[in-house]
Formats: sequence, C-alpha cells, structure tokens
Amino acid sequence: MKYDVVIVGAGPAGSTAAKFLSEKGVKTLLVDKSKFPRDKPCGGGLTARVLRQFKYIQESDLIDSYSYGGVFYSSSRKYKVSVQKSEIVAAMVLRKKFDYGLVKLAIDSGATFLDGKNIADIKISDDKAKILIDNGTNIDSQIVVGADGVWSTVAKKAGLGNHRDSFGISVFEEYPIKSETIDQYFTKKRIVYGHIKILGLAGYGWVFPKKNHVNIGVGEYASLAKKPKGMMNIKEVYKKYIQLLKEEKIIPPNLKIKDIKGAALPHHPLDKTYADRVILCGDAAGLINSLTGEGIDFAMYSGCTAAGVVTEALELDKCNADFLSKYERIWKSDFEKDLKLFSRSSRQWGKGSENIIKLVSEDKKTADIFLEIAMGNLSIHKYKWRLLRRLIYLKLKDFFNR
Ligand SMILES: Cc1cc2nc3c(=O)[nH]c(=O)nc-3n(C[C@H](O)[C@H](O)[C@H](O)COP(=O)(O)OP(=O)(O)OC[C@H]3O[C@@H](n4cnc5c(N)ncnc54)[C@H](O)[C@@H]3O)c2cc1C
Repeated sequence: MKYDVVIVGAGPAGSTAAKFLSEKGVKTLLVDKSKFPRDKPCGGGLTARVLRQFKYIQESDLIDSYSYGGVFYSSSRKYKVSVQKSEIVAAMVLRKKFDYGLVKLAIDSGATFLDGKNIADIKISDDKAKILIDNGTNIDSQIVVGADGVWSTVAKKAGLGNHRDSFGISVFEEYPIKSETIDQYFTKKRIVYGHIKILGLAGYGWVFPKKNHVNIGVGEYASLAKKPKGMMNIKEVYKKYIQLLKEEKIIPPNLKIKDIKGAALPHHPLDKTYADRVILCGDAAGLINSLTGEGIDFAMYSGCTAAGVVTEALELDKCNADFLSKYERIWKSDFEKDLKLFSRSSRQWGKGSENIIKLVSEDKKTADIFLEIAMGNLSIHKYKWRLLRRLIYLKLKDFFNR
C-alpha cells in the first residue's frame, strides 16, 4: 500500500490534516487504533476562535450546544466572576459525534480511513516513510503526520521525545440529563461553571452544560510522577466536588456518579515538532493551553497548518527536516508565546488566584479581557502588561477604598 501521506490518529488534529490534504489532491491515509465512532475523554468545550477559523464545524451540525456565559469561583468560593453575553462564549460538543463527524468530512474530501489499526513503529529512510501496523502490514508514504495524542508513538519512534516528564491529569464524567432539567439549572444560556483550585487541587473543576448532557470534571497540573505525598487522590476530589456542586444547587441532587474516566494532557510543546518526513500535530506535539486544558483548537489549527506545509513539501519534493521546519516556524510565530505563558501560569496555578478573582469580580472591564482570552479572541501574551496594569490599578483602588 502506498500513499503520499499517512496520518496516524484520527482525533481533531489528524482529521483536520486529512481533510485539507485531500482537498489539495494529496493521496492521504488516516489511520486510528480505535474503531470509530469512538469516545475521547474530554470536556468538549470549544473556543469561539475555532468556530471562526473552521466554519464547516457549524455548517456540518457538529455542535451540540452553545454557552453564553459563565461563573468562575475563587478557591474559597467567597468571590466569583459572573459573565453573560449576547454572543457565543463557548460551543459544546460530544466528542464521539464530533470526532466521527470530522473523520467523515476528511473521507468526503477524498481521504482513505482505516480504523482499528494500531501503528507500532515507523521507519524513515532517504526515499520514504514506512509505518508498521500491529498485524505486520507495512504502508509506505512520503510523509507521516503524527496526530496520535499525548502518548504519541510517532513522536517516540521519530526520536522527538515524549510528555512523560510533565503532563496534567483530568477526570470527568458526562451525565445524560433531560434538557428541561438542564434549562432549570443552567438556563437556556447554558451557563458554565469553573472552580479554581477546587478543594486545594492544583487545577480546577468545570461544569459544562450541553443540550442533553452535563460534563463535569476536575483537572490538575502536577504530573503523577511528581505528585507530593499526602495529596488527595484526584478521584476523591472529584467525588467531593460533585457533593459540593449539589450542596450549592449547581447540579441536580439526584445526579449519580457512574463511570469516572480520566486521561492525561500534555503540559507544553515538545522541543522539536518535525523531523525528516515527519510532522507532529495536536497533543502529540504538546500544543495545548495548559492553563485551561483546551487543546481542540490547537489540534485543528496545527492539522490545518501541517497540511499546508506538507502539500508544499510534496510539490517541491523536499520532505526533509529542513523544509518541514517551516511548520514549526509558523505555529511558533502564531502562538508559542501564548502557550509558554499558559504553561508558566499553570505551574503557578492557584497562587494569588483568590485575590485576582476578588479584584476581577468588581470590575467588568477586566472580567471581559479574561473572558476574551479564554474564548481565544485575545492573545494573553499581547495583553499581559495591560492586564497586569489593570490588576495593579484595581488593587490600589481596593486599598484606598477600605
Ligand atoms: C479530561 C479531559 C478534558 C478535556 N477537555 C477539553 C475541552 O473541554 N476543550 C478542549 O479544547 N480540549 C480539552 N481537552 C484536550 C483535548 O481532548 C485534546 O487536546 C485533543 O483531543 C487533542 O486532539 P488530537 O487530535 O491531537 O489527539 P486525540 O484527540 O487524543 O486523538 C489521537 C488519536 O490517535 C489515536 N492513536 C493513538 N495512538 C495510536 C497508534 N499507535 N496508532 C493509531 N492510532 C493511534 C487515538 O486512538 C486517538 O483517536 C481535554 C482533555 C482531557 C483529558
């Protein structure tokens, strides 16, 4: 079997790369180890930016619901920032439907899809890339796109490293609930909730209401390897979080935990996201907002960017690392500084957040800036000094008003 490009992993990164490559007439194979439709541990929240950039998501009916506001609590829950908007704050998807929908769009554009096949190895030589499926089948191509998630086999086999030294953990459950009950608790505006540093966790808790589901989870930044002794187990935190949400009447009292699932998230990009005949996208490359855990946006963006560079490399017959480095230059110039700042902030997570939430709760303008950053409409890197000045101003105002 021979293709121009083989994409390993059919999550948002892989299917997006497959769609854009196939549209350019590139002979593309998209392979995934799972049988589709498959679910993926996720909150399923999308930024407004991803909707703007990939309009076909809405046109193809892949969105489950929209949220028009949120309430974000400080660790003590003494302070909260509430925002409500007339425009969409976040879109919600069910990953099983969303990911399969993206795969179907790639197939409609001409990609070949092979599911239920685990890629065990890749071999790069001067004239081709070879992937090896578990059952012993080999597939040749010019370039391999590694979109195989946080524990990427492609990254490892291409010598690009892994995320084992630094990753976050999240646990969650998506509860089917009647839409009338969701209307009652979260209104038709589907207000989302966030609890910073919930129950002392170095992370946060989220409640994402959807059309007929509520997705509730907690995420922490400390990797398992570095977890200090005596810290509460994340599943225990989750159970206590559900109890607390019931006590505060944020969720219905009869909601029952059935099947908590968990997964890892990368913390920061790998040092290098390309090699001879190889490009890494999405979680495999570590492209994620490690402060919020939001990675679908970066997965789709990187898949689309990779498709552009790979198409060019094939046309020019330059599939070497030197040419493919263009991909990394593009994503770095677009958002490396933002990702670095998110990553640095996540390591400090919780420090000073009580104060920040208190100050922001009293100032709509600052709350709006934070919201625009979370929606992907503003770059945190470009706004950091303005935000800092605003927080200093609010702190002084608070001090003199006492
Ligand atoms: C609990 C949790 C909550 C999250 N919530 C959000 C959220 O609300 N919003 C958001 O934007 N992001 C969220 N994220 C992050 C988001 O899920 C990821 O960033 C996103 O899925 C990355 O997409 P991807 O295509 O790079 O990888 P994935 O979606 O992980 O897809 C990788 C694919 O590769 C396949 N694969 C892996 N290895 C192989 C192999 N050897 N051979 C063949 N196939 C292989 C897998 O089966 C999988 O289908 C969350 C993550 C977690 C864990």
